[in-house]
Amino acid sequence: MSVAESIRETRERIEAACQRAGRDPKEVTLLAVSKTKPLSMLQEAYDAGQRDFGENKVQEILEKAPVLSEDIRWHMIGHLQRNKVRQVIDRTVLIHSVDSFRLAEEINIQALKRRILQDILIEVNAAGEESKFGVSCEDALPLIEQISELKGLKVRGLMTVAPYVVASEENRPVFRKIKQLSVDINTENIDNVSMDVLSMGMSGDYETAIEEGATIVRVGTGIFGERNYSR
Ligand SMILES: *Cc1c(COP(=O)(O)O)cnc(C)c1O
Repeated sequence: MSVAESIRETRERIEAACQRAGRDPKEVTLLAVSKTKPLSMLQEAYDAGQRDFGENKVQEILEKAPVLSEDIRWHMIGHLQRNKVRQVIDRTVLIHSVDSFRLAEEINIQALKRRILQDILIEVNAAGEESKFGVSCEDALPLIEQISELKGLKVRGLMTVAPYVVASEENRPVFRKIKQLSVDINTENIDNVSMDVLSMGMSGDYETAIEEGATIVRVGTGIFGERNYSR
């Protein structure tokens, strides 16, 4: 299947999931995760109408963004080192992977320097997996309260990388837990914090994530095919 066909099919599946959940498909953004993929494939996706792209390495955003169209919205979805914030902040509409106050502080410093307001999500490690980044569900609220004092950024919601599972249904409780966490945090009415974005669901489970309230789904393999890390 071509990239354009995969995008069309993914969009159809997103719409069907929205229909099942009684949601408006306009509430859900398809983020094309283009890490490791060549520019030609990103261009194909762009030509098929795709505008939101996700990368997990600063270096790849810096290589790809200048040579592709300026109206692409780049999302940073991978672990971000503090010393790289300064390089990537001008290129990203949304940083999905904030999981410490120290990282938020650095984003704040760089945003204030540029007089911008950087939108961020708090990454939550919902299943408590050792191998994953993100704060625990218990630590999310205290971290967000601390970050809300920083004037150069705005917390827009939560992001989670659910466990790898064979059947997407297995991740439903994880998505439900993150949705509930965002509802709970929202009721705290913290200044400078909104909970309108929920970035959850990947190629294997994005339909389930949408049924449970995802507003951004991050689809890589489902659009661009398997990744080859050996190149
Ligand atoms: C790679 C990646 C994805 C996409 O994964 P697929 O299974 O290929 O859809 C989504 N989110 C994050 C954080 C990733 O690193």
